[in-house]
Amino acid sequence: MTKPGRIACEIPFCCRTAPAEKHGDDAQIICGKCWRLADPATRRENRRLYRLADPSAAEIETFYASWEAIKAQITEAKGGIA
Ligand SMILES: [Zn+2]
Repeated sequence: MTKPGRIACEIPFCCRTAPAEKHGDDAQIICGKCWRLADPATRRENRRLYRLADPSAAEIETFYASWEAIKAQITEAKGGIA
C-alpha cells in the first residue's frame, strides 16, 4: 500500500513512489531508477507513443505493449521475483 497522494513504482519490490497529483491517481509509473534498466530503444518508442497528441488505436495498443515489455525487462534486470 502507498501513502495517500502517492502512487508506487510498478516494478515489484521497488519502494519508490511519485506524487499522484502529477500523474493522476490511476496512473502507472516506473521510477527513474528502474526506468534506466530497460532497453533504450524500447524506452524511446514508449516515450514517442506517449507524446502523440492523437494516437490511433493501434498506437495505443503498441504503447501498452511496450510499457509491459519495459516492466518485464526491468523486473528481469533486477533478478526477477525476489
Ligand atoms: Zn522503481
